Amino acid sequence: MTTATTPAAAVMEQWWAQAQETRRRVWGNVPDEKWNDWRWQLSHRLNTVDELAEVIELTDEEREGLSAPEKFRVDITPYFATLMDPKDPRCPVRRQVIPLGRELRAFTSMMEDSLAEDAHSPVPGLVHRYPDRVLMLVTTQCASYCRYCTRSRIVGDPSANFSRQEHQMQLDYIRRTPQIRDVLLSGGDPLALTPKILDQLLAELRAIPHVEIVRIGSRVPVFLPQRIDDEFCATMRKYHPLWINIHVNHPKEITPELRTACARMADAGIPLGNQSVLLAGINDSVHIQRMLVHELVKMRVRPYYLYQCDLVEGAGHFRTTVSKGIEIIEGLRGHTSGYAVPTYVVDAPGGGGKIPVMPNYVLSMAPGKVVLRNYEGFITTYTEPLDYDPLEVKHLEKQIPRRPEPGQEGVSYLLEGRQLAIRPAGFDAVHARGGEMHRLRADASKWQPFLVGETVDAQAQGPNGPAIAAPADGDR
Ligand SMILES: *Cc1c(COP(=O)(O)O)cnc(C)c1O
Ligand code: SF4
Repeated sequence: MTTATTPAAAVMEQWWAQAQETRRRVWGNVPDEKWNDWRWQLSHRLNTVDELAEVIELTDEEREGLSAPEKFRVDITPYFATLMDPKDPRCPVRRQVIPLGRELRAFTSMMEDSLAEDAHSPVPGLVHRYPDRVLMLVTTQCASYCRYCTRSRIVGDPSANFSRQEHQMQLDYIRRTPQIRDVLLSGGDPLALTPKILDQLLAELRAIPHVEIVRIGSRVPVFLPQRIDDEFCATMRKYHPLWINIHVNHPKEITPELRTACARMADAGIPLGNQSVLLAGINDSVHIQRMLVHELVKMRVRPYYLYQCDLVEGAGHFRTTVSKGIEIIEGLRGHTSGYAVPTYVVDAPGGGGKIPVMPNYVLSMAPGKVVLRNYEGFITTYTEPLDYDPLEVKHLEKQIPRRPEPGQEGVSYLLEGRQLAIRPAGFDAVHARGGEMHRLRADASKWQPFLVGETVDAQAQGPNGPAIAAPADGDR
């Protein structure tokens, strides 16, 4: 008999009943107090063909994947293993953690470190790509391992793990870099650290005055919700403002255990977000994503990012086109709560960070008019003011201290009029065409645009400002 009140709840109930059935069948003799103990779950993870064959009916390709000698690590908590459909190899939970033979296949543009994270790390495990925030990899260990992991180059490998000394190098870099206001702990999974080490790291970060917020990215609530106990929440409370992003890809991963874990974290005052990866054959569907985001907001988790799958070894068969991601956002924006719509991003191959991608809503523009379309295809006109003065606010702006972004001011700097152009590396040399310095080239002042590179104050005086523009420092 179902107690479900909605069609979605009925499906979730069925999934849960199947998980309970698997637990009875495989772990029937394990009492609740052991099952609910995260240490028991970690020490009873499944990784061999024989162990997994007791839980699910392995296909030939799964056996091939599990038997491959050079594969990315396999380890699955018993809790998460119960969420796999024993008979259906297309089960979205199963596909995320059981390797297939095809995962070893190479594909064009595949890389070991496709986001060039190690190249952007001033010290081991600290990726400083954006002006004001860093990604701090604190461990290579996870509660279970996702086949499409973007950091499979180090994740899972205990010999690649970060040492206490490397943690200190990371902390020292943050201490001596005052522009860092946001530290994002990741890995591996920071919640796979021993509670004591995690507590110490957070305490050391919090002692750095310029670190304003700390974030943790973790899949432990999904793989090992038992870890989110009162002790964990009490520790986190000491370090507010602290944000946590979890990682759910499919509504089948949302269980009563995960709901409890999220409720505990939210009640401890932790704002919760979710990051998913767009995965072929798993969640590359508007309807699956809609159900996912609805279930997430019901447990106070705000969808944050939907990632295009990276060009990383092992992930080839999980990749979708980018158009599929745009189609999903098209199916969410306007159709459901704004709170439930994640930002779809492509993390730039080669390093460069997350680039948001979305459908086009601006159809045309003319001075004074913008033509926009909504999710239904309704086309409207926004009339712009003809007397808007963007300089009026400059007076207030002066009260706000500017934050330094050395070398990363980017397109925003062009708009501010601080710089005329951003040139690709080698641009000037290519366009000199090997020629000599001659009489028409000698005077560089002829390429100095009037007032560009001047202070905003000078520009605010407009073209009738100072008669002669002082030389600007060009591209900084
Ligand atoms: C994702 C990421 C961040 C955080 O990016 P937000 O857009 O602020 O969430 C920071 N550093 C690196 C290297 C990242 O990959
Ligand atoms: S939890 Fe994160 S770091 Fe760990 S295997 Fe999965 S994607 Fe990789």
